[in-house]
Amino acid sequence: MNETTPSDRRTVPSLKGSCLCGAIQWQLDDVQLAQICVCHCGMCRRLSGSTFIPFGAIERAKLWPVVKDFPTLKSYQSSSTTTRYFCGTCSSAMVFDYHFEPNSLWVPLGSLQDLDPSLLDSTRDSLIFVNDQASYETTLKSDLKEFSSFGLYKSDPCQPCKKWDEIPTFVSTAASSESENQVDLKDLPGATET
Ligand SMILES: [Zn+2]
Repeated sequence: MNETTPSDRRTVPSLKGSCLCGAIQWQLDDVQLAQICVCHCGMCRRLSGSTFIPFGAIERAKLWPVVKDFPTLKSYQSSSTTTRYFCGTCSSAMVFDYHFEPNSLWVPLGSLQDLDPSLLDSTRDSLIFVNDQASYETTLKSDLKEFSSFGLYKSDPCQPCKKWDEIPTFVSTAASSESENQVDLKDLPGATET
């Protein structure tokens, strides 16, 4: 533990991160996770391919030495003050470097393993740039049904010459049993794990 860390800082006993393919993996013990922001800005949407990015600030002096030498770590300077690091093999976003922050680097929470939800703290963490969020995001969250598995997902739903109900829906544990033409994943030709 860094003895200069004030006691009001959120520290975690162990933090692990990795990319999708596993080429980049890191672990830090007793490290500050100083702040978490959930950003809805257009840049974060483009970068992630998603509607927002939750990311957390970690001590630069501890994180950078353990990630900087991975052979697949690539960078993209997205502005004069920001460099985005990602895995060149699987494209996972790994580190955001705001050049004007000498003590901190930011990591997408999605790259972390099992973040304890009790760590979230409304006095220091926040949703940011919510006015920039995609116009459909509120509808996504409020109007669409939730499923624990594939839900209403259909395989190759753009196929022509079929009515919608004739295209099989994947079996979902949360879906009701009303649909007769649900098929199991393993029964679909060419189906692979997603
Ligand atoms: Zn990777």
